[in-house]
Amino acid sequence: MSFSALGLRAELLLAVGEQGYTEPTPIQAQAIPAVIKGRDLMGGAQTGTGKTAGFTLPILQRLAEQPGGTHGRMPVRALILVPTRELAAQVQASVYTYGKHLPKIRSLSVYGGVGFHPQVQALKRGIDILVATPGRLLDHLSQRTVDLSKVQVLVLDEADRMLDMGFIPDIRKILAYLPKQRQNLLFSATFSDEIKKLADGFMHDPLLVEVARRNATAELIAQRVHPVDREKKKDLLAHLIASGDWKQVLVFTRTKHGANNLAEKLVKSGIRADAIHGNKSQPARTRALAEFKAGKIRVLVATDIAARGLDIDELPHVVNFELPHVANDYVHRIGRTGRAGSSGEAVSLVCVDELGLLRDIERLTKREIRKEIVPGFEPDPRIRAEPIVQGKRGGQQQRRPSNAPHKAGNRGQHAPRQPASRAGGRNSRDSGRRSFAY
Ligand code: AMP
Repeated sequence: MSFSALGLRAELLLAVGEQGYTEPTPIQAQAIPAVIKGRDLMGGAQTGTGKTAGFTLPILQRLAEQPGGTHGRMPVRALILVPTRELAAQVQASVYTYGKHLPKIRSLSVYGGVGFHPQVQALKRGIDILVATPGRLLDHLSQRTVDLSKVQVLVLDEADRMLDMGFIPDIRKILAYLPKQRQNLLFSATFSDEIKKLADGFMHDPLLVEVARRNATAELIAQRVHPVDREKKKDLLAHLIASGDWKQVLVFTRTKHGANNLAEKLVKSGIRADAIHGNKSQPARTRALAEFKAGKIRVLVATDIAARGLDIDELPHVVNFELPHVANDYVHRIGRTGRAGSSGEAVSLVCVDELGLLRDIERLTKREIRKEIVPGFEPDPRIRAEPIVQGKRGGQQQRRPSNAPHKAGNRGQHAPRQPASRAGGRNSRDSGRRSFAY
């Protein structure tokens, strides 16, 4: 199958060729002809499948075929909603790249954390394809600085993540500004009942295209777990980076604070690293990402939200410094590697408290992940997984003594999101030393 068989214009084929793409990915092969025909589409695809080109190319084709152009103040004709700022910038960069031989198409991304006024000026000049995060777009709508009344195509990208981030009410508000007659495309790595309900509310007879088995982890990604004690994780990570001579590593932590701490520790051990998370200003996040892509920093430490949708080509190593609380996030995290045909490696540093989370992940992905103890970092067999109680001590979660009663009504605001029974799944009445089967 070639791109030219999909019915794309010469200008688009030229841009695709310049990117070095020789054949469409499965989602592109299915989505492009359907979207050109004007059909609604629900795509089950995570990042790394080539879904961005899968919706961008046919949208560009449709808009390029319309008379008009962008003389004067043209209203937005295609709206692409994405969950994060980084993804907004990346999708707009793709729109620009694929559309650069179509002189009349203008695109813009609008998102929070950067100036409002320059966006207003750009919108005034006329934009054909607008890529936006929901919050900033609602700001523009309430200030009447954007007109969505002529939108012909709506894309909801990474809908499952929008749901996780609480954006669905905002999306419903935005939908009210759009004309009823339009084409709708929705992409999501997974289809929960809530996503299906949202889709049922506004899509018309959508074509369903699924390229990866639901919740399956990409075949190309080599996954492994290194069992290790929590306090040795930083040293183990530094050891893995140095001994494996890893040049580009994306590391996930659960908290912003943890991301900062880890990046600082790595820098102290002589490894160029930076952190990217929601508390950093947008320019700082953009700079860190650019330096990482350019190879100026070796390790980028990120929280799930900050890392979502980052398009970093052929990322060789992803490390879960801590496992995510939500098993599905594991699938998203490791989706950063082994992208569109290249192989990758996902390594998880798992301490005894995380065994329950590891089991959840293995159950979700329906495969057991290889466990490998690194010499010198053997977990202490005397450390037992015990139920975690709320509260923090020295930056770590407290453990309830094995025989202590569980105090009801003691759930402060630091209560962990996990039920105690998931912390390793061990019987708290067990006593004595025992080692753990990771
Ligand atoms: P996406 O899933 O849209 O985030 O795309 C993942 C990566 O695959 C991006 O870096 C694209 O540049 C790349 N890509 C998209 N389409 C193709 C293709 N047909 N062949 C090779 N790489 C592609």
